[in-house]
Amino acid sequence: MSGFEDVNYYFRKAARVMDLSAAVERMLVTPYREVKVDVSVTLDNGQLGTFIGYRVQHDNSRGPMKGGLRYHPTVDMDEAQGLASLMTWKTAVVNIPFGGAKGGIAVDPATLTPREQERLTRRFVQQIHDIIGPQRDIPAPDVNTNAQVMAWIMDEYSRMHGFSPAVVTGKPVDLFGSRGREEATGRGAVWALEEYLHDAGGGEIRGKTFAVQGFGNVGSWACRFLHERGGKIVAVSDVQGGVHDPDGLDIPKLIEHVKQTHTVTAFAGTDAITNEALLLLDVDVLVPAALGGVIHDKNVSGVRARIVLEAANAPTTPAADEALAARGVVVLPDIYVNAGGVTVSYFEWAQNIQQFSWEEDKVNAELHRHMREAYATLARVVRERKVSFRTAAFIVAIGRVGRATVLRGV
Ligand code: NAD
Repeated sequence: MSGFEDVNYYFRKAARVMDLSAAVERMLVTPYREVKVDVSVTLDNGQLGTFIGYRVQHDNSRGPMKGGLRYHPTVDMDEAQGLASLMTWKTAVVNIPFGGAKGGIAVDPATLTPREQERLTRRFVQQIHDIIGPQRDIPAPDVNTNAQVMAWIMDEYSRMHGFSPAVVTGKPVDLFGSRGREEATGRGAVWALEEYLHDAGGGEIRGKTFAVQGFGNVGSWACRFLHERGGKIVAVSDVQGGVHDPDGLDIPKLIEHVKQTHTVTAFAGTDAITNEALLLLDVDVLVPAALGGVIHDKNVSGVRARIVLEAANAPTTPAADEALAARGVVVLPDIYVNAGGVTVSYFEWAQNIQQFSWEEDKVNAELHRHMREAYATLARVVRERKVSFRTAAFIVAIGRVGRATVLRGV
């Protein structure tokens, strides 16, 4: 299956429970707009670098479309369609007034200098500026993009449209970003787990074991918050490989190591572990926090965790999801677990629109409220309909998007 088909598989599973007609199903899954642009730039050596950029705007029935920009060689239309539709369902699950979009550039930014990355980003904005905007479509960071990339986007867009901080979120705090945005996805994921553990009588994070794939924005912050709560993180990884210590990693020291070496590998006092082996460790909670499709039909039988906390987008393929459910493994789904990022992005956008800045305590308190309320709604649907958390999340999201679409009129 493709990325978009995978998301639509989950959509259709929920739509069947809801008795949606085939025509309404088709309308809700079909993207509003898909754009593919040439992003050619002059490289530092004078040669021409040619790259392709994508932006898929999936749905705007509940507000301006919202979603990250990814710089990665695997970016293509199918991936953008799948991730854009996930954003529609995610913003609806946490009930924020946005639709869904996603995009990026098929490029490995590690092969570009910072000046080349800036030129590439500005060129991309020149190509898509007329379809994004504070009331249309608001990009944010995703894999291999960060606050600096958002600052370039804001600057380039503002040159064309006047001062527009609300055109992107995840900006540096010095440039109208929100306090607490950088940590928000990891923080929200840990709160999502706490909600589940308390509700299911599963106790506390303290003493539980974790394996975390990906140590970028989401994975590293999730590790910090789990560690602070007494969670024992026995393995983490990044694109170069992983490290394993059955007694638990010292996360603050590991963060220092990554600051110096830019990788988790070769962290003193640990054993090396591959990304594949990390997924199969005997832990309480497995946290995929890197790329999609990593738990699939070929490796799912080896997954030994009791809970999968989907911090990454689309880390579990439908076949693996069914296999985990059959074995009673609880999968807490991406469209709830990692929604903390887009929720604080919404706060950032609201602060920008009002030209007003919130204290970090307020950001975190509001985020906590959204994560708690979303969990309570999902847990109620899980119990009433006897479905998985993922199907419950899609039922809630489809209901909200569907009602807005019908009320506005086709
Ligand atoms: P990031 O670029 O900051 O970090 C990505 C991490 O994954 C890095 O540690 C990288 O080395 C690792 N990685 C890359 N390729 C890998 C591979 N093939 N195998 C193992 N590890 C690999 O990105 P991020 O913002 O932390 O995003 C991680 C995931 O979380 C993505 O799925 C993203 O869509 C999702 N997400 C991010 C946010 C956010 O606020 N940043 C919000 C919601 C969802």
